[in-house]
Amino acid sequence: SPVIVWLRRDLRLSDQPAIAEAARKGPVIPVYILDDETPRHRAMGAASRWWLHHSLDKLGAALNDKGSRLILRRGRADEVLAQLAEETGAQEVHALHHYEPWWRNAEKAVGKTLTLCLHHGNYLAPPGSVTTGSGGLYKIYTPFWRALRERMPPHEPERRPQKIAAPARWPASDTLSEWGLLPKKPDWADGLRDMWEPGEEGARKRLRAFVEEASAYEGQRNLPGVEGTSMLSPHLHFGEVSPAQVWQAVADAGGSVATFLGELGWRDYAQNVILQYPDYAGRYARDPFGDFPWRRSRRDLEAWKQGRTGYPIVDAGMRQLWHTGWMHNRVRMIAASFLIKHLLIDWREGEQWFWDTLVDADYGNNAVNWQWTAGSGVDANMFVRIMAPLTQSEKFDAAAYIREWVPELADLSDADIHDPPPGKRPKGYPEKLIEHRDARERALSAWQQAKAEQ
Ligand code: FAD
Repeated sequence: SPVIVWLRRDLRLSDQPAIAEAARKGPVIPVYILDDETPRHRAMGAASRWWLHHSLDKLGAALNDKGSRLILRRGRADEVLAQLAEETGAQEVHALHHYEPWWRNAEKAVGKTLTLCLHHGNYLAPPGSVTTGSGGLYKIYTPFWRALRERMPPHEPERRPQKIAAPARWPASDTLSEWGLLPKKPDWADGLRDMWEPGEEGARKRLRAFVEEASAYEGQRNLPGVEGTSMLSPHLHFGEVSPAQVWQAVADAGGSVATFLGELGWRDYAQNVILQYPDYAGRYARDPFGDFPWRRSRRDLEAWKQGRTGYPIVDAGMRQLWHTGWMHNRVRMIAASFLIKHLLIDWREGEQWFWDTLVDADYGNNAVNWQWTAGSGVDANMFVRIMAPLTQSEKFDAAAYIREWVPELADLSDADIHDPPPGKRPKGYPEKLIEHRDARERALSAWQQAKAEQ
C-alpha cells in the first residue's frame, strides 16, 4: 500500500527525509493540507499565503518531474489524513517534526489512528535534544548556542530522490486557484513579486548568491541600506531549503562566517523556547509585564503600521515590510522597540501585525524576537534600555534606505534625513508622534509603576 507524505513547512525535495524515506518504501502520496482550523487564530497571515501559493505551485511541478503529484486537500489535518488513508489504503504517514503547539497537538491526533513517522530535518539539531548538564532545556541563547555549536556540523544533506513511485490510483486533489491564497482586490503583492522567487529553486539561487558574499556578512549585516544578509528567512520558514544545506554551503565557502552561523542558531533557539513555552506569542515570560500600563491608542498603532510615525527609520522599515513582506533585522528591532517603548503599545499588537505582513512570519522566531525586544522574554534585552531611533539611524547609515522607502524625504541631505529639522520637514510627512526624550521618560515611569504594583 502507498505511504502518505504530509507536507507542512518543508516544501522541498532535497534533504527532505520524510519524502526520501517514503520513496524508499514504495509508492508515495504527497499531500499538503490547507488547515485553518487546527492553528485557530494562528492561521497563516496574508503575506504567508501569497508565498505558500507560489511555493506549492513550484513543488507540484517538481513532483511532476519525478513522476509524482502534489495532492491538495483542505480541512482539519488529522481528519483529512484519516480520510485520505481510507481512500487509498495507506496506513503510514511520514512527516517532518514541527514544533508549533498546534502541530504538536495535531501530530498526537494523527498518531491515534495512523502510523505517523516523524523525521528530523528543519533544524540544525532536533529541538529538545540540546540539553544542559542536568538534562533540562536552555532558557538563554548563549549557552544554548555553545552547546549546539559543539554538535555541529549538522548531518550531511541528502540529495533529492531519483524516483518517487506513483500509487496505482491517484486520490482527488483540490486546485491551488480554488484555495484563493492570492490577494483579491486590491492586489498588494507587486512588491512581493518583484523581490521574491518562492520555491526550492528560488531558495537555491538566494543561497548561491549569499555564499559569494558571506564573508562580508559580519561587517554589513547591520546596515539596512546594503543587501548584506542572506534573505533566506522565508525560504527557511517554508522549508524550501534545510538549515543543514545552508550550513554546509556557507561553511564550505570559508572566511569568517561564525556570526552568520550564530544567527542561524537563533532559529533553533526559538524552537527550544516554544517547546518550553508553547503560548510564548501570547504570554509574558517575566514580571512585571502582566500588569504593564500599556496605552491603547488606535491612532498611534495605525500610524506605526502605515509608516507614518514621523521617525524616518521606523517609517522606512514599516513601509519596506508592507511592500516586500520583509524588513531588515536591525530595523525590525528599531521599529519593534519604537512601538513598545516610544508608543507604549503592547508588543502583542506588533507581533500580530508582523504575523500578517511578513513572508517569513514564524511563530517561534517572531514571538522570541518580540519578547526579546520588549524585555519580557526568558532571554531578553532590558526594558529600561531604550533604543534611540535617530541615533540608530545615523549609526547604521540608513540614509539611502530611508530615501528608498520614504521617497518624500529623498531630497534631504544625509545630515538632515534621519531627523528632518522643523523647517525642512516636507509637507505631507508627519510630525513625530512623540519626542524621543518625552517617550523615554514616559516609558521609564510606566516601568516604575508596573514594578510598584507588582
Ligand atoms: P540573516 O541575517 O541572513 O540570517 C540567516 C537566517 O538565520 C535567517 O534567515 C533566519 O532564519 C535566522 N535568523 C537570523 N536572525 C534571527 C533571529 N534574530 N531570530 C531567529 N532567527 C534568526 N525571523 C523570522 O524568520 N520570522 C519572524 O517572524 C521574525 N520576526 C522578528 C520580529 C522582530 C521584532 C525581530 C527583531 C526579528 C524577527 N525575526 C524573524 C528575526 C530576523 O529579523 C530575521 O530572521 C532576519 O531579518 C531575516 O533576514 P535574513 O534571512 O537576511 O537573515
